[in-house]
Amino acid sequence: MSEKIRRIKVKLGARSYTMAVGALAKSAGAIAKLSAGRDCLIVTDSNVAAGGHLDPVCELFADASRLGVATLKPGEKYKTFAAAEGICSFAAHHAYDRNALFIALGGGVVGDLTGFAAGIYKRGVDCVQVPTTLLAMVDSSIGGKTGADLPEGKNLIGLFHQPRAVFADPAMLSTLPKAELRNGLAEIIKYAVIRDRGLFDLLWERRTCLLKRPDFELYSQLIARCGEIKAQVVSADEAEHGERAILNFGHSFGHAVEHLSAFRIRHGAAVGYGMALAGRLARRMGMFDSASLVELQALLDYVNLPLESPVEADASIMLEAMRGDKKNYAGKFRLVLPERIGSVKIVGDVPEKELEAFLRDEL
Ligand code: NAD
Repeated sequence: MSEKIRRIKVKLGARSYTMAVGALAKSAGAIAKLSAGRDCLIVTDSNVAAGGHLDPVCELFADASRLGVATLKPGEKYKTFAAAEGICSFAAHHAYDRNALFIALGGGVVGDLTGFAAGIYKRGVDCVQVPTTLLAMVDSSIGGKTGADLPEGKNLIGLFHQPRAVFADPAMLSTLPKAELRNGLAEIIKYAVIRDRGLFDLLWERRTCLLKRPDFELYSQLIARCGEIKAQVVSADEAEHGERAILNFGHSFGHAVEHLSAFRIRHGAAVGYGMALAGRLARRMGMFDSASLVELQALLDYVNLPLESPVEADASIMLEAMRGDKKNYAGKFRLVLPERIGSVKIVGDVPEKELEAFLRDEL
């Protein structure tokens, strides 16, 4: 196992923090410093606990004045207001004070819920993210977006609440199911296309290793690079008034697919297909060359992300599903489209007729 800890700074003035990528035990000092003498609450889910990740993390919080554990039911289905309330009630029942520290040990669901609960408990307590899925390591643990779903839709409630630190240990990926690994790989490909040709080349060179049991050193490198990109984007535009929207590459089509499949199609597969569609639309609009599109689709295909629609939907149904996208503005479709591998552009005025004609040809 590598000795090296990679550290990434998320620069947000007084709320800046560090993401440490590497063996968690190597961050014991930083964890002790954060938690000593405080009431700490680890929030996790039953799969993460069953994977054997909870006990070693508890040991690292030995200096806490008290250590509680709240274990949630796993999955998006339980990313509810009631679950966030449950975390707050646990803390309230045990009289946790304003100096409490909440620790999210899990994937994006646990991370978003714990961050949300930390943001509202006693008007805000500190939170630390210890992501356990690849998606959470490269994406959801960084940037401070927190929240829960409502029956009316995903992520409809929440707030920005930046963590005090993020500790990502790639060894935790050893128990992650393949489908979950693929979800994270879709996001890593996204980062490569939006910002980093070198990362794309690394993914292609090491493609045969990607879906095997995660190689600690390779995954440390990938997670740290994605963390750097996300940190740069978030530092420049924390509240998503502009540039942060590039992180949604592949997501406008992807969210429509997820929605149309009633969330049976996993996020990674939907975003993977969304990136292929965005690439094809960009080529049609003369922004992206055919050779780059071939490269993008070859990598998506290699990691088993779909190049053809995983849902039954015609152009008008797809367009309708895309209309509700939060990123659209003033009735115009706003899409993130590639210019080349390593650079994307936010196109704020994709004409509806052009998009519909494209979807008619594709679907
Ligand atoms: P998840 O949290 O549901 O985890 C996926 C599954 O893996 C769950 O069943 C979980 O119990 C299990 N699991 C987690 N770690 C494991 C491990 N090490 N070993 C074995 N099983 C493990 O899903 P996710 O893909 O991590 O996160 C998706 C969520 O993240 C969505 O709710 C999405 O809205 C949110 N998200 C948030 C942001 C953000 O910026 N806040 C960004 C992207 C996604």
